Amino acid sequence: MTLVFATNNMHKLEEVSNILPSTCRILSLRDIGFDSEIDETGKTLEDNSLLKARVVWDYLQTHPQAVAIDGVFADDTGLEIPVLNNQPGVRTARWAGDNHDDAANRRKALRLLQDKPDRSARFRTVITLITTKDNAGEEAHPVAAQVEGRVEGRIAEAEKGEGGFGYDSLFIPEDYGKTFAELPAETKNSISHRARAVQQLCLLLV
Ligand code: IMP
Repeated sequence: MTLVFATNNMHKLEEVSNILPSTCRILSLRDIGFDSEIDETGKTLEDNSLLKARVVWDYLQTHPQAVAIDGVFADDTGLEIPVLNNQPGVRTARWAGDNHDDAANRRKALRLLQDKPDRSARFRTVITLITTKDNAGEEAHPVAAQVEGRVEGRIAEAEKGEGGFGYDSLFIPEDYGKTFAELPAETKNSISHRARAVQQLCLLLV
C-alpha cells in the first residue's frame, strides 16, 4: 500500500514510518512534486487536518504519479494548556507570530506560565485519511476518516534536552520525569500524540 503523508517534516516522516506496518510505503509532499504552501485557515485541528488532506488529494487528481497511490493522510497537532484556556491549540505553530518560530513559541509558553502552579498540558494530533471506496462497479469516490491521539503531561520550568523538535524540550509526558527532547526517540515514538493517532490510523488501514 502506498500512502502520501501531507508533510515535508522529516522528523514526522521518520516517526510515522516507524509506526506504520512495513508494507506501507510513505511518500512525502516532495516525493509527489507538491511544492505549494497550504494555508491552515481552519478553526480546529480537525478542520486543518481535513483541509491539508483534501488539498493534496485534489492535487493528485491532476498530477498522476508513477506509482499507484492508495490514499492521502494529513495531521494537525496542537498543544493545549488548560490554565491558558487550552491555548495555543490550533495556533500552536504560529503562537508567537505568523512565521512559525519554534524557539519564540517556547519562550512564549514559559513566559505565560511564569508563576502559574498548574502547568498541565496535552498534545493532541488529528489525522485525516482520504482513500477511495469502490462501490460495486460504480465510479470510486473519495472518503475521509479522522482519528485522534493525545498525550497528557506538563510544561517544564525551563527547556531541557537536545532531541526532537517544536515544543519537545518543554513537554514532560505524564509518568516520565523527562521532556520529550531528553527521552530516547523510541520512547517518544511509542507514547506520543502522533504515535497514538498513527496507531488509530493503522486500524483504519486493515
Ligand atoms: P503540526 O500541526 O504538526 O504542523 O504542528 C503544529 C505545532 O506543534 C508546531 O509548532 C510543531 O512544532 C508542534 N509540534 C507538532 N508535533 C510536535 C511534537 O511531537 N513535539 C513537539 N512539538 C510538536
